[in-house]
Amino acid sequence: MIDYQYLKPKSLEEALSLLESYGERAMLIAGGTDVMVGIRNGKFAPEALISLRGLEDLAYIEKDNDAYRIGALTTHRMLETHPLIRSELSALYDGASQVGSVQIRNVATVGGNICNAAPSADTAGPLLALDAVAVLKGPRGERNVPLSEFFTGPSQTVKELDEVLVEFRVPAVMGEYGSAYHKHSRRKAMDLPILGVAVSLKVTDGKIEDARIALSVAAPTPIRAKRAEDFLTGKMVSEDVLEEAGKIAGEEASPRDSLRGKAWYRREMIETFVPRMAQKALERLKNR
Ligand SMILES: Cc1cc2nc3c(=O)[nH]c(=O)nc-3n(C[C@H](O)[C@H](O)[C@H](O)COP(=O)(O)OP(=O)(O)OC[C@H]3O[C@@H](n4cnc5c(N)ncnc54)[C@H](O)[C@@H]3O)c2cc1C
Repeated sequence: MIDYQYLKPKSLEEALSLLESYGERAMLIAGGTDVMVGIRNGKFAPEALISLRGLEDLAYIEKDNDAYRIGALTTHRMLETHPLIRSELSALYDGASQVGSVQIRNVATVGGNICNAAPSADTAGPLLALDAVAVLKGPRGERNVPLSEFFTGPSQTVKELDEVLVEFRVPAVMGEYGSAYHKHSRRKAMDLPILGVAVSLKVTDGKIEDARIALSVAAPTPIRAKRAEDFLTGKMVSEDVLEEAGKIAGEEASPRDSLRGKAWYRREMIETFVPRMAQKALERLKNR
């Protein structure tokens, strides 16, 4: 029989104090869509679950002069239905709106998606391409970790056991970029991606001023394709240039063979979808 205590702190301070006293014996739970599957499969066997669901003030989407601020308890459904996300951080709209089914998106949170640290997480690529920073709180205070430094391996992150992820910050300047994410999967609904490609671009008079390319299921963790980004920066937009960026990104990736797809196939899909997502990002910029 699966047996655990279910603890419901009413504040972040209470959650942190429970984490400190239970240590390795406890696990945080937000929407529970990964945790409960893991418990049922025998992947985790915590003595206690510390639920974050009572911390409703950690579910928000805001923008100020410096940043877009997205609370860790924000659900994918909140992201996909928020006009600011759809129009200004479109890659994140693309990612959040493709997680599971609407029932899953109503409870599953963006914080859970990132802390679960699956290489296939659908919001990881978009948040990486939007230069997001993860804000962690723990007994030693608050620290900001760029998402590009957050993942250390499959299911592994720099977050310490006694820390809670409270917020993502996306620099306000990212609202001037066009962005798009493609989830490449076998079926339209309820499948994890074979590959994820997110691109964001800042373009003035046809010249690429800045580029971000993020790939998921292309390496042990979601990654940025920095060489491809550097190649694009400063170039005039053209089909050839975008295709070459796709090839470079394919070389930077280190995908593996899995049941969902072979490594060579993933590499070819990177070459195909980097230019396509760049075009989509450019179209979105034009249509603003
Ligand atoms: C049927 C089904 C379909 C799915 N489809 C997809 C899909 O298409 N794409 C996709 O990316 N995922 C998919 N998932 C996986 C899952 O729904 C997502 O990863 C979801 O975002 C997890 O969020 P959650 O709030 O449910 O996390 P939980 O299960 O509550 O937690 C996940 C992990 O994060 C930790 N955690 C959660 N919140 C915090 C926090 N604030 N601070 C610190 N640690 C925290 C937990 O301790 C746990 O380790 C699917 C799952 C199911 C069951």
